[in-house]
Amino acid sequence: MPELPEVETIVRGLREPLLGRRLLRARLRYAALYRKGSLRVTWLVGRVITAVERVGKNAVFRFDRSRVMTINLGMTGRLVLVGADNTGRPATHKHRHGRFIFDHGVELDFYDPRRFGYVYITGNADLRSELNLGPDPFEISTSGRELGEALRGRRAPIKSILLDQRIIAGIGNIYADETLFAARIDPLTPAGDVVSRSRELLAAARKVLRRAIDHGGSTVRDYRRSDGSSGEFQQHHAVYGREGDPCLVCGEVIERIVLSGRSTHFCSLCQK
Ligand SMILES: [Zn+2]
Repeated sequence: MPELPEVETIVRGLREPLLGRRLLRARLRYAALYRKGSLRVTWLVGRVITAVERVGKNAVFRFDRSRVMTINLGMTGRLVLVGADNTGRPATHKHRHGRFIFDHGVELDFYDPRRFGYVYITGNADLRSELNLGPDPFEISTSGRELGEALRGRRAPIKSILLDQRIIAGIGNIYADETLFAARIDPLTPAGDVVSRSRELLAAARKVLRRAIDHGGSTVRDYRRSDGSSGEFQQHHAVYGREGDPCLVCGEVIERIVLSGRSTHFCSLCQK
């Protein structure tokens, strides 16, 4: 599932080609792909893209006249940029559910084999509250104070809290595990017990996320950049997907447990 670094990479790849472009045609194949309350893609036709941004794990396209389209890639979603000369067009159109064609002939396509993603179109500028998203790790104070306040009193494991987009947006399973390893925190620790370490936890999250962005994100399964290429950060994971392998710091075997239905990777010696 694309997380903050993957969506950031996708958005950066789309910004230059799409900014200032007018949408000529738009189609979404399945009404079920609209998030509840969404307007239809045809409402965007004729409008010009004024911003391409990331909000949490979502790609957000702002158009003139306050029209906003959010695309959430779910588990297997992909945004593909197809040039006017057809460069970048995948060999098969299977699972191509959305098509957006712009005035310079460039096309943005939305593929999603498992269809857990969604499209949400609204005229409301306060997207964050509509999507019920907290700030991402780059949007809160470096001191860790806001993060500490958000964790205070919570008894759920810190790993589960990091995944809760209402509390802190952008982090999913890969980067929660990598962040907790970098901060040397046991994923099972009650979140409230981490308050005193929230500054280093936040610093670890930012460092891991920045490095991942520098490597174009992690391609574990489906994720691709908008030009179809893979990310490379999976080669630099310290714990995620490394169960049974030696810890890069201490040599202990990396463990994998299931926590609230999600696989969780950690080093029992480094993370206490
Ligand atoms: Zn270790």
